[in-house]
Amino acid sequence: MSDCLFCAIAAGDIPADIVFSDDAVVAFRDIAPQAPTHILVIPRAHHVNAHALAQEDAALVGRLLDVAGSLAERDGVAEGGYRIVTNTGELAGQSVPHVHFHVLGGRALAWPPG
Ligand code: AMP
Repeated sequence: MSDCLFCAIAAGDIPADIVFSDDAVVAFRDIAPQAPTHILVIPRAHHVNAHALAQEDAALVGRLLDVAGSLAERDGVAEGGYRIVTNTGELAGQSVPHVHFHVLGGRALAWPPG
């Protein structure tokens, strides 16, 4: 989708610290990390949010969560505990309208988030 930051990162048009990439999924480190591990896992295809993704390609939801968990293991945060977050809409803090799963770990995470 034109004018989409994460489509541009997935296409390689905007640089990012890519930690995983295949035909359907890209993962990269968040530019403003909120924890020692802060990775964003996205589909290459443009879906606005998690609900849209589930309705448009349910299998891809599982694939994204599998990659998220595998990257948490690879970063060494799975044993201690980590969080997968997806924000939907303005009040929830979604700033990029291309579905993404935050993978946060490496420190204690407060609950509920602010
Ligand atoms: P959200 O606010 O849930 O939509 O998450 C968007 C995330 O994208 C934020 O945590 C930003 O720090 C992150 N972000 C924005 N631009 C970039 C970029 N160019 N590379 C990596 N992460 C980014």
